[in-house]
Amino acid sequence: MNIDIEQYLAILKKEVKNYQVPVVDLIAVQTKDPFKVLVATILSARTKDEVTAKASERLFKKAGTVEKLAELDEKALQKMIYPVGFYKNKAKYLAALPGKMAADFDSVVPDTMEGLLSLPGVGRKTANLVLAQAFGVPAICVDTHVHRIMNIWGYVTTRTPEQTEMALRKILPEKYWIPVNSLLVAFGQGTCRPVGPHCDRCVLVKTCPQIGVTSRKLKQKRKNKNVLRLVSWNVNGLRAIFKKGFIDIVRDMAPDVLGLQEIKAMVSQLPESLQNLDGYHSYFYSAKRKGYSGVASYSRQEPENVIKGIGDSRFDDEGRVLTLEFNNYFFINCYFPNSKNDLSRLDFKHDFNVLLQKFAEDLASKKSVVICGDYNVAHKEIDLANPKQNRKNAGFTPEECAWMDSFTDAGWIDSFRMKNQEKDQYSWWSYRSRARERNIGWRIDYHCVDKNSGKRIVDADIFQHIPGSDHCPVVLDFLC
Ligand code: SF4
Repeated sequence: MNIDIEQYLAILKKEVKNYQVPVVDLIAVQTKDPFKVLVATILSARTKDEVTAKASERLFKKAGTVEKLAELDEKALQKMIYPVGFYKNKAKYLAALPGKMAADFDSVVPDTMEGLLSLPGVGRKTANLVLAQAFGVPAICVDTHVHRIMNIWGYVTTRTPEQTEMALRKILPEKYWIPVNSLLVAFGQGTCRPVGPHCDRCVLVKTCPQIGVTSRKLKQKRKNKNVLRLVSWNVNGLRAIFKKGFIDIVRDMAPDVLGLQEIKAMVSQLPESLQNLDGYHSYFYSAKRKGYSGVASYSRQEPENVIKGIGDSRFDDEGRVLTLEFNNYFFINCYFPNSKNDLSRLDFKHDFNVLLQKFAEDLASKKSVVICGDYNVAHKEIDLANPKQNRKNAGFTPEECAWMDSFTDAGWIDSFRMKNQEKDQYSWWSYRSRARERNIGWRIDYHCVDKNSGKRIVDADIFQHIPGSDHCPVVLDFLC
């Protein structure tokens, strides 16, 4: 912890004056109404500020008080707040809010952590923000930006936002508890961005320790024009993630080739800007069943050839494999089947794995092969947070791990593990129990490379900080 935090925050106070004010702060300043701050904070989780602002406006026109909110049912709320992230869950919380507040708090927003945490849809982050912004109570709201930037500065060394909050409560002078969130959210959205922070124009660049700023490091390596950035991401619904800033995120990651899994859409259902992503050649392989599975690949360079499927309708009908052929490598974008909670698809998945491996090995006899995608298996104990409890669960059964063993024994290289042996490196988190916040995750997304192409692996990374899906993007920098 070598930085001078007082100096840093004073510099940022001046710096962000002209930045966009985070939406919840704006509502707090404009309304000074704890109810509206609470509702806007619930809406803002995992949602872009512009979307939160519009949804709050629509909602407050009809329901500016808790009594008015009680008149709306869940369906009406869903319609009103759509397309905020997780709008169905949030509508459920909002529908339950008036009843809970009436029963326990005389329909007044409570001004204690304990009271706020008892409300539907309110976690520590929301409670802290409401305490700070609506009541002026010293509370530290640690969202992804605060957590990330405090770690980049080395002011704390923590794994989760919750740990960051606890660490900051001990070392951050109390006068900064309330303003630190707005400062770092504005700064994190404007300059110290999650992907590719703009260190080049940052007021702190001379002294910032830049700890773990991997995307910048990867970007520097990419200055070598002979290195390609390949990115794989299970987006869990391309139409859904589009509304959460997908195009901006792609622009920041700047992939040369991007493989997406679980697009859950036919091409005709996608907006034009996704059908033809600016600057990329776009390819889709959707499942026959609507709203299920499907893969898409975007490439800056036009491939020489595109192969859809692996020649077996059991798998191809589910839109699982899309291959782009370039002059000196194949890029296989693959969504491996899930063996399902009751393991009823274990055999189906094994058949797929065997066929996919054969398909890839045939291609590897001609030139390099990269198989990117959601493999739906955590290979070893280091690849998930709770290996003992999950030994019999889908994604970590002995059978699935045995196939992954045989796959790597055959020479396929897990590029991430070639470069990184650290624990707690995950690419998927359950939506339940705040698993992502607590980093209780699994590493099930990979770039694997054929046995003769290991020397082309320049670097590999997991962009855990990128929201929008229950998976995050995984990255391979690959020599041309
Ligand atoms: S120098 Fe880079 S990493 Fe450090 S605060 Fe500025 S943008 Fe963030």
